Amino acid sequence: MKKIKLATVWLAGCSGCHMSFLDLDEWLLELAEKVDMVYSPIADVKDYPDDVDVCLVEGAIANEENLQLIKEIRQKTKLIVSFGDCAVTANVPAMRNMLGPAETVLKRSYLELGDVTPQLPQEPGIVPELLDRVSPVHEVIKVDLFLPGCPPDAHRIRAAIEPLLQGEQPVIEGREMIKF
Ligand code: SF4
Repeated sequence: MKKIKLATVWLAGCSGCHMSFLDLDEWLLELAEKVDMVYSPIADVKDYPDDVDVCLVEGAIANEENLQLIKEIRQKTKLIVSFGDCAVTANVPAMRNMLGPAETVLKRSYLELGDVTPQLPQEPGIVPELLDRVSPVHEVIKVDLFLPGCPPDAHRIRAAIEPLLQGEQPVIEGREMIKF
């Protein structure tokens, strides 16, 4: 059977969704026999590859780097899953939207609340530029599947991935899958 090419991506999130992915425990060994993990924060791959079958996207779109990467991912991926509440709703990263645009947020964080050496980030290109507003993934690109939860439980991650291994579309509905 042809292995599916699986990617996972960490954008503006806390990595808790990836920790939940690792909670799949021994099922990860079964999964490893059925997929090629072609890109992930848990694999040392620098560039997002072409022709990815499925990508789990953790995190919201908060900076220029997130924005460029998610556009590239959309071009190169058949099925994109908004993986966890930060991807689905923007969740915690979007709390800064209440403060106003990026400039206001930076001043508040680095100058007004900087009690040792207040200064703005100095090196453009090293620290990705903040977007004025944090967005959920589907506001930026088309998303094929939504997997809510903060984080989604491991058994729900499995329920989303397992049908894909058979070439079937997972169904994310019902209390068990969307209530937590
Ligand atoms: Fe972390 Fe929750 Fe966001 Fe996942 S959804 S990245 S666990 S804050």
